[in-house]
Amino acid sequence: MDFKDIIIATKNRGKVEEFNLLFKDYFENIYSLLDFDSTPGIVEDQPTFAGNALKKAEIIGKYFNKVTLSDDSGLVVEALNGAPGTYSARYAGENATDDDNLEKLLGEMKAVTNRRAKFVCALALVFPEGKKEVFEGECEGLITEFKRGTNGFGYDPVFYISRYEKTMAELDPNLKNIISHRSDAVKKLIIFLKNC
Ligand code: IMP
Repeated sequence: MDFKDIIIATKNRGKVEEFNLLFKDYFENIYSLLDFDSTPGIVEDQPTFAGNALKKAEIIGKYFNKVTLSDDSGLVVEALNGAPGTYSARYAGENATDDDNLEKLLGEMKAVTNRRAKFVCALALVFPEGKKEVFEGECEGLITEFKRGTNGFGYDPVFYISRYEKTMAELDPNLKNIISHRSDAVKKLIIFLKNC
């Protein structure tokens, strides 16, 4: 691959640091939206994680004319027909906190016996000449009846991993990073970069 620069289409510092480490062997200059004063506004209105990730990467990639990576992720609950899905961050409303969202989820799941759910992450990589790739990762679990644990963020306190008999918020963060939907998608992305 003869591209030197990549833009990570996010303002989230945690994600920027994670992707900086990941891409250091593949790109000379790694930028994020934190490096620019003005960037195009993007409405995440696509019905799928892949659609939202691609939309962001395409708009930012076209604006800066550089290789661009973007991600979208969330929680998919089987008994709720896939909700909260792409609305995960704003399930309880536009300005909802993580706690508002998971309280709403626990309310919707009262008396529901099928507790199966998964976290999904889509990573979209778009090249200036138009080539695009999407990598999807998943992590399966069960929705608990009560919150447990204080690590992580979002829906972690109600997402139970049977193999470890713990919620994501009770897991060691290093272990979460190994088994997460993000890590699953990232592994696929790295295989792609190594073969470029
Ligand atoms: P984003 O698109 O990666 O910013 O994530 C959207 C929303 O999905 C977050 O605000 C969380 O509610 C939820 N989410 C995504 N990944 C995780 C996770 O690893 N743990 C808990 N919640 C998550």
